Amino acid sequence: MHRFSIRRKTSSKQLEPRILTKGLHGIQLPQISKAALEVVDVLTRARYQTYLVGGGVRDLCLEKTPKDFDIVTNATPQQVKKLFSRSYVIGRRFRLAHVHCKNERIEVSTFRAGEHRYYSKNVYGTVEEDAQRRDFTINALYYDIQQEALLDYVDGMRDLESGIIRILGKAKKRYQEDPVRMIRAIRFVAKLGFEMSPDTSEPIFKLANLLLGVSAPRLFDEVVKLFYTGHAETSYRSLQALRLLEILLPQIVYHLEHAETAFYQKFLQQSFINIDQRYKQNKSLSPSFLFAVLFWQPLQVRIAKLAGSGIPSVRALEHAIDYILAEKFTRPIDIPKRIKEGIYDIWWLQYKKHARYVRMVRRHRRFRAAYDFLLLRKQCGEQVGEQLELWAPHYK
Ligand code: ATP
Ligand code: MG
Repeated sequence: MHRFSIRRKTSSKQLEPRILTKGLHGIQLPQISKAALEVVDVLTRARYQTYLVGGGVRDLCLEKTPKDFDIVTNATPQQVKKLFSRSYVIGRRFRLAHVHCKNERIEVSTFRAGEHRYYSKNVYGTVEEDAQRRDFTINALYYDIQQEALLDYVDGMRDLESGIIRILGKAKKRYQEDPVRMIRAIRFVAKLGFEMSPDTSEPIFKLANLLLGVSAPRLFDEVVKLFYTGHAETSYRSLQALRLLEILLPQIVYHLEHAETAFYQKFLQQSFINIDQRYKQNKSLSPSFLFAVLFWQPLQVRIAKLAGSGIPSVRALEHAIDYILAEKFTRPIDIPKRIKEGIYDIWWLQYKKHARYVRMVRRHRRFRAAYDFLLLRKQCGEQVGEQLELWAPHYK
């Protein structure tokens, strides 16, 4: 199968892949983006062993439209860079190349060896090793464009057919190496409608705490991805079921237990429905909106508390917002500053109820988000009808 010799010797348990030739898998060349085909072609002609891998291959096998295609090769990022004029070597944790081709940006990574070197220098490996270090079996299928053949080192095809998310290797070890895999597992369950194998889901209960060791900005990215890829509702339910909600968003769990639970629950549920709908309609989704939603109830509680202690309402509002957006409240997630500014605006505009503010409100650059937020509040039973009418004429 391999037209190129494998340079590095793998560990003792070298594996033979199951090879699915054309006809045994559903992938057709025209389904693959021209840019990805071209990048593979250039690398292959330069005699590098090159495959498509990851979500693109997985989604094609499932007859879903892939978001993008990842390419993996035995060329080092520097070697890739030499082949393409518009390419850049990037990455802090791992170095890889971004190749710009036909208005697309294609990620080209080099076969990576095992995870024990995760935080040290990049250590390149073979395709077999690369397969083992991926997260789930269904994400470790390699497509050879020349042969139109699928290489399966990990029984990924079987899991794809039975709808199973199965972590590669020993779950405990793999979650310890990178706890974000727990969140990714939930994302794929939601996205694909699959189930986790018990050896993938069960360790999560015990290891959830490891997520507290993940960098706060990365957690922010992962949570946004979880809620903003068309499956907010299912993802939320999985987070609850696997007890990750109390790790990632402990404020929500606390308020669901202590505050006006019925409204908050309804509010979250309705917003997830709206968010999923917007995703389907290809409408923009701003992370500010998501967190404005998630922390709306905690904000209400905080305002009430401050107002109760005699602070005037404008100041109460500002203090309450500052309190909710402070790192102490949002952790373990860190919300970037510009997103916080968006949340601040969405919330602050909710309180510009009086007619004399209408001009200012409508001109505000976050008016649309604030308006959607107001609509959501109305949908959930808050009394904001007059304000909506004041704001509405501008809205198309
Ligand atoms: P999506 O359709 O959401 O992009 P994806 O599977 O392509 O799904 P990416 O985050 O784009 O997800 O990652 C591409 C591939 O890189 C994955 O399919 C997987 O093989 C590998 N990968 C990504 N993150 C990890 C991780 N934390 N641990 C191991 N492998 C990973
Ligand atoms: Mg991807």
